[in-house]
Amino acid sequence: MFKKTNLILLGGPGAGKGTLSAMMEEAAPFFHISTGDLLRAEVKAGTELGKQAKALMDSGKLVPDEIVAAMVKDALKKDEKKYGMLLDGYPRTVNQALLLEEALTELGRPLDAVVYFQADDDFLLRRLTSRIMCRKCNRIYNRFNMAPKVDGLCDDCGGEIYQRDDDSEASARNRLKVFHEQTQPLIDFYKNKGLLIEIPCGERDQVFAEVVKALN
Ligand code: ADP
Ligand code: ZN
Repeated sequence: MFKKTNLILLGGPGAGKGTLSAMMEEAAPFFHISTGDLLRAEVKAGTELGKQAKALMDSGKLVPDEIVAAMVKDALKKDEKKYGMLLDGYPRTVNQALLLEEALTELGRPLDAVVYFQADDDFLLRRLTSRIMCRKCNRIYNRFNMAPKVDGLCDDCGGEIYQRDDDSEASARNRLKVFHEQTQPLIDFYKNKGLLIEIPCGERDQVFAEVVKALN
């Protein structure tokens, strides 16, 4: 299905990394790591890490690099699918990118490409504040153009649909600011390594088709 299989999905909050990950996982046996999902699982389980992360996440700030890097390293160890790897929401700082490089060298799984979903802030803000998701399986929906068939219930697993605390307008604006300050430098970082593939955000099926084309 894909020629390039060890991938980072990069983009502002709401760019569609999670939705695209789900589509890619359906198409091929990717090993998917979403640091946002991992952190939300820690919060839900009420772990020490979750307690530390919750306040930062709600206000739209990043969780410290060391914490997230350790979490990703653990997750990478559970990698059993040899086909490919999808890193969704990680790295988000240049420091995280350097830590990742080390971890992937150790694993013998070098990156093939970094897919950057490009969008302007207005587009992302509209997406974020209308986003809803499943509490159980993390599937992502949109109140206006991708609502679940039965109001409040997940199409896939029947789980409860909710709006994330950090998808309020204030928090969403802050996450965009954090994206520009801390994550945007990664675009040049990966461009310089010749790994960057830029794809404009848009309708999911069209974006997916472009990703498939770009990875082959
Ligand atoms: P989005 O879908 O809006 O891009 P995520 O679900 O990826 O958001 O992340 C939600 C929150 O989790 C972030 O705002 C941040 O607080 C925290 N987080 C996720 N990934 C990272 C990371 N790589 N480094 C630091 N914090 C992270
Ligand atoms: Zn679900």
